[in-house]
Amino acid sequence: MSKNNKPILKVGITGGIGSGKTTVCRVFETLGIPVYYADSQARQLMVSDPRLVAGVKALFGARAYLKDGTLNRPFIAKQVFNNKEKLQQLNSLVHPAVAEDGVRWHCAQENVPYTLKEAALLFESGNYKQLDKVITVFAPEELRIRRVMERDQISAGEVRARMDKQMAEEEKIKRSDFVIYNDEEHSLIQQVLDIHRTLLALIASS
Ligand code: ATP
Repeated sequence: MSKNNKPILKVGITGGIGSGKTTVCRVFETLGIPVYYADSQARQLMVSDPRLVAGVKALFGARAYLKDGTLNRPFIAKQVFNNKEKLQQLNSLVHPAVAEDGVRWHCAQENVPYTLKEAALLFESGNYKQLDKVITVFAPEELRIRRVMERDQISAGEVRARMDKQMAEEEKIKRSDFVIYNDEEHSLIQQVLDIHRTLLALIASS
């Protein structure tokens, strides 16, 4: 519950690879808003959630994990690369596990007006259905490529290959309640503050 005993609003934040989701979330965190990082949490759950671990082993065999219990990422990546069915099966294990964990996390929050859930595939996974509002972070493609090449030390081709697997930005924007333009022209902090205030006003009037 929030301070005034209202249910805590669930806000999602998405955007393509390198759009700046995490960067934007850090700004919300400075305002005291707790953030659930679904993508890093998914990686964590794949080694710590017994049901998920069993599902992954059933799908890929024991080689899916290394002797020390960590995920055999290169092996799994190879298995799902160009195998849509396997990828879908993996997603149908991971997405519900993350959704459940996200709900548990949200319910454990106290005295905050809303929480944020950051996920690259918020619409694609269907997880947006559990959220009250969605924010999309948008950045031009060339800028995203440049930023991810620098951050991950990979080639433009590799970034584009990842982009091709994601929903078009225009579609995400159409389905969102708010858009943050992280394009070096608009002020990121001002946009976050505007959305924060709008959400607080919405909560106050509900
Ligand atoms: P992914 O989907 O790959 O996790 P993301 O959407 O979370 O990416 P970030 O990691 O926040 O994106 O940003 C990508 C890179 O661009 C990071 O190295 C980040 O520091 C940089 N970046 C993002 N926004 C800005 C900005 N406004 N100014 C300068 N650098 C930025």
